Amino acid sequence: MNGKVAILGGGVVGLFVARRLASEGWEVTLLDARRVGGGASGAAVGVLQAPNPSRSALAGLSREGAESYGAIAGELLAETGIDTGYRLCGCVHLRRELPRDPGKELARWAGAGVGAAWCDRSRIEELIPGYGGEEPVGLELDGEAVIDPPALVAALAASCRARGVELIEDAGSLALTGQSARAVLPEPWASRLGPEARVVVSSGSWTPGVVESLGSPGVAVEPVRGQAIELEHPAPACVVHFSHGGSGSAYYLVPRPGGRIWVGSTVEEVGYEDSTTPHGLAELLVAARSVLPGIGEGDVRRQWAGLRPKAMRRGGPFIGRWPGLENLWIAAGNYRSGILQGPATARVLCEALTGAGEPDESFALPVD
Ligand SMILES: Cc1cc2nc3c(=O)[nH]c(=O)nc-3n(C[C@H](O)[C@H](O)[C@H](O)COP(=O)(O)OP(=O)(O)OC[C@H]3O[C@@H](n4cnc5c(N)ncnc54)[C@H](O)[C@@H]3O)c2cc1C
Repeated sequence: MNGKVAILGGGVVGLFVARRLASEGWEVTLLDARRVGGGASGAAVGVLQAPNPSRSALAGLSREGAESYGAIAGELLAETGIDTGYRLCGCVHLRRELPRDPGKELARWAGAGVGAAWCDRSRIEELIPGYGGEEPVGLELDGEAVIDPPALVAALAASCRARGVELIEDAGSLALTGQSARAVLPEPWASRLGPEARVVVSSGSWTPGVVESLGSPGVAVEPVRGQAIELEHPAPACVVHFSHGGSGSAYYLVPRPGGRIWVGSTVEEVGYEDSTTPHGLAELLVAARSVLPGIGEGDVRRQWAGLRPKAMRRGGPFIGRWPGLENLWIAAGNYRSGILQGPATARVLCEALTGAGEPDESFALPVD
């Protein structure tokens, strides 16, 4: 055994961290204030975007996810018998017109190993049954996949348990205190795990509250509500990205089995309010109708919402050690891509915790 680790927060990030550390011989206890997957992770729509051509460290997290999920889904199925619904289906981005240099965009994607092609309206109609949108042009990408987030959470939790992780739900709203350059867990966990336990905070949007009493540097993460709906309608052959409305807000249609489509998602700064609203439903229906005019309110089967953890800085999530404390690490702030970036975020965090690597400086907590 390497030692004990307490992980606060059982979204995809905490679960990937727990699974990885347990397989490296750490004694892991994962504590969730409520239910594992009960935060943003269980509410996500599961688009795994095509590998991003950008060379930034943040794009690297996404690219690693896009390239590793196929293997991860296979491992989880073999280990747990749970099918995460992973499917490499590609996507189409609907456009009003071709760009001035259509070849340049194709070359950019080819540079990232993603097959890309421009297509016309008849091909769009082939991909999207019932298409009645105005966009006559589409950019097809072959590297995009989908996964079922609740099934992913269930499979990760089962895999963690099989690897010896103790998963504790309904642990209450946990907050850390600081003492002699160490983070201290609240009771009864401090006594149960002992003073030597390392602590990882992966509490998504709730991370600032967990570390509040530690003072500086703090973690600038804020909740951004996302609502989504499920429609009963023949599914498109791939993920469909489109924009709608005066502000050009971005939406997507996600093909689901059994003649269903998930439509995502709203972007709302409403603090910790995570309920669904009639306004959210109306916004998503209007957007979906701009592509599928045949859809009506009677086709809506489900509506849900979650709070995405948004890091309030350029460069993306906070991943790494808390400056000045010897036993505390943070992984939070993956905003709209935490499912996709979960595996790489966990790898970077685990390498920092075990001394196997240093996170890119763009992920570091500020020292002040
Ligand atoms: C509608 C919607 C659609 C989305 N679609 C996609 C998508 O298609 N692709 C994609 O990659 N991402 C998507 N996302 C974003 C993605 O869901 C998040 O980035 C990701 O789930 C964040 O994971 P996390 O583990 O950091 O946080 P969370 O999943 O929020 O987990 C945090 C956990 O911490 C627990 N917790 C809270 N307070 C405490 C405490 N004090 N002590 C202990 N535990 C605590 C919570 O109960 C929760 O289980 C979507 C999000 C939403 C809402």
